Amino acid sequence: MQRLEVLAREAAALAAGLPAQTGAETEVARQMQICNACRYCEGFCAVFPAMTRRLEFGKADIHYLANLCHNCGACLYACQYAPPHEFAVNVPQAMAVVRGQTYADYAWPPALGALYKRNGLTVALATAGALALFLVLLLSMRGSLFHAPLAGNFYAVFPHNTLVLMFGAVFLFAIAALGLGVRNFWRAAGTRADANGAAAEAAKSALTLEYLDGGHGKGCNETSDAFTLSRRRFHHLTFYGFMLCFAATCVATLYHYVLGLQAPYALTSLPVLLGTVGGIGLLIGPAGLFWLNLRRNPAQGDVQQRPMDRGFIALLFFTSLTGLALLAWRDSGAMALLLAVHLGFVMALFLTLPYGKFAHGVYRGAALLKYAIEKRLPNRLALGSD
Ligand code: SF4
Ligand code: SF4
Repeated sequence: MQRLEVLAREAAALAAGLPAQTGAETEVARQMQICNACRYCEGFCAVFPAMTRRLEFGKADIHYLANLCHNCGACLYACQYAPPHEFAVNVPQAMAVVRGQTYADYAWPPALGALYKRNGLTVALATAGALALFLVLLLSMRGSLFHAPLAGNFYAVFPHNTLVLMFGAVFLFAIAALGLGVRNFWRAAGTRADANGAAAEAAKSALTLEYLDGGHGKGCNETSDAFTLSRRRFHHLTFYGFMLCFAATCVATLYHYVLGLQAPYALTSLPVLLGTVGGIGLLIGPAGLFWLNLRRNPAQGDVQQRPMDRGFIALLFFTSLTGLALLAWRDSGAMALLLAVHLGFVMALFLTLPYGKFAHGVYRGAALLKYAIEKRLPNRLALGSD
């Protein structure tokens, strides 16, 4: 029965235009066969319980498991079959390679999936282009980078409607592209609809980064078999910092359109407070993640994806740094220049959202939801203690 389901999903994947199983996918399937016989790591994360529900690993199963893996590293350091053993089992690395490939495979529009593979260059070009755009706009509108203080009135530099139009269009495109990409992933995985609170469980797992605790609460591995909660904490600072900054923008939009209150807002106002606290989180979190990324054991992941990881982390950091600098000097004659630089980084971030590291959150969220749904269904293998 499972064989028929795997074959059906393989046929659907091919019909949807996905290439036949790649070498990286075959490697994950090989390692999962070994793990399925061993099962030592069953309590570490969601990947191993999901694996035990399968005897065969088709393309869609491998994509699902790869996105369920949080790259915590625990199963590499625990594995008696890891290199130099001849079985050469390195689950975090094999999963990371496939995970990067899935972003490109499911990307919308498909032609832009190639941007994931050249993400370092993409981020660099998007940043340079966006910075140049706003600096040129500033010069053409005001004729100078510096000016007499404008009491923090951003819209005296770039009109409100111009900014809404530019950022609204790019943000909506990013959301649509990510949404359609993850829809392709969801369909290929053959997932059923939500069941009995699965969405709430998946949301909790994602929001608490449950699987970065190593299965024992001590955290994941970075450079060695020592456990650390650093990645989980820095990731929380980054994610919740980002969400607070987003909340600040939403509240400011309500102030503008619903309450008729125009920016600039006082330092003690809700949008500024949310943005300041979020911005500080978005400085410390990415700085910590960058430091961890530099130190991480290269065997624990796919080194080819490091430019993508670091490019995204750097964009988040500089978006926050320039935003806080803008707040600090908004009453000075350098406000327009600081605003142009900040908007350049925000635009580069928005432009690269659907084709960079940000995608991992969306695909992992979908994989966690599939896992929460699947575990509520009877295990049709019904093998022993399963
Ligand atoms: S990673 Fe190694 S120890 Fe863990 S289940 Fe697989 S084979 Fe066993
Ligand atoms: S690296 Fe961590 S999350 Fe990934 S399969 Fe191994 S134990 Fe699970």
